[in-house]
Amino acid sequence: MAAGITAMLALCLAVTLRRYRAPVGEATTLWIRGTVLQSLAWFALCLRDDVPDLVSVLLGNLLICLAYAEYPRALRALHADARHWYVPQAIAVWVLVPVVFFTWIAPSVPMRTVATSAVVLILLVLGAREAVCTSPRPWPTSHRITAATFLVGAAMLLVRIGFESWNPLPLTSGVAATPMQSLTFGYLTLAPVIATFGFVLMCSETTRAEFEKLAATDPLTGALNRRMLEQLAHSHISHAMRHGHALSVLLLDADHFKDINDAHGHDVGDQVLQGVVRVVQKQLRPGDLIGRLGGEEFVVILSETDALEATQVAERLRGAVADLDLEVNEGSTPLALSISIGVATLGDHGPDFHELLRRADRAMYVAKRGGRNRVVTGEIPLV
Ligand code: GH3
Ligand code: MG
Ligand code: MG
Repeated sequence: MAAGITAMLALCLAVTLRRYRAPVGEATTLWIRGTVLQSLAWFALCLRDDVPDLVSVLLGNLLICLAYAEYPRALRALHADARHWYVPQAIAVWVLVPVVFFTWIAPSVPMRTVATSAVVLILLVLGAREAVCTSPRPWPTSHRITAATFLVGAAMLLVRIGFESWNPLPLTSGVAATPMQSLTFGYLTLAPVIATFGFVLMCSETTRAEFEKLAATDPLTGALNRRMLEQLAHSHISHAMRHGHALSVLLLDADHFKDINDAHGHDVGDQVLQGVVRVVQKQLRPGDLIGRLGGEEFVVILSETDALEATQVAERLRGAVADLDLEVNEGSTPLALSISIGVATLGDHGPDFHELLRRADRAMYVAKRGGRNRVVTGEIPLV
């Protein structure tokens, strides 16, 4: 049953999920590999009485461990690079030592069972860890289902290890029909189905999060795109109005940016924009927002910040960008870049984001006319 079910699962995954882009495609390939290995392992184990021990015992146990080694790797591939992570496989091949020892040197089916259970247990714990590492807390249900399936398996193998170590009636065969064996094989038949269900949900969750990010951010700089910026700005403004908090908007525009493009090329210009967003993001508080309005213009929304504080923040941002050493090619002289910033604060003009932007824009143009690399605030006299 286990051999058939795992083969069917692998086939279903292969025809549906494999063609997904990374990371889901990569993770699915590893998961399929694990599931195929499991199917082969069960097949080898169920030929126990018909083929030599070398095939059934040695190959069967090795395959089952290698199969369980692919699952943590598949789960890691969902959130990080798992291509060169061979720790699970290194753990899996260790199973050869006790299997050879307890089959041919000091034959003992219970001890062999204990040893192989211990290796699979470690791999299951590793799988559970990877399942929850894929996402920050609170873990989505799919991650919990997958981790729980692995942990239940690990707990059951722990019981099995205890049982086989102290049981006065030692196992005579790896596939003997004792209650403990039935429980183990029952779980191992069902587990791939539940774990694969959890894995597929995790893939769907990862894809959803990726699309959500793509829909919300500017692909070049990672700042919010205009649509998301407007949406979040409206909700921040409503919140500020409701609670009587201040809120300020900064409009940032790179100075003479066209010259950078003309002198160094568009690619360098792109890197400069990424550098600006990085340095601005570093200066902001976690609740503040940065979005790209278009071209080399960015908007920062500062919650609970009045005009004076906003001007101080803007001044800090301007200084940080001016101090930035943008070394776009290794060894080349760093590029000099400055930004001009217009500041507007939510006041008596009504809770309209576009009105705030217009005022910030006017202030920014005053900064440009005043010589650039400066901050101008609509609400308070120029410093
Ligand atoms: P000012 O100081 O008056 O703002 O001058 P400026 O050169 O920065 O302004 P201008 O509006 O004349 O030029 C903006 C330039 O930004 C022109 C455009 O090609 C460039 N630009 C817009 N979007 C991008 C982008 O995504 N990447 C790159 N590399 N350049 C961009
Ligand atoms: Mg500009
Ligand atoms: Mg501009």
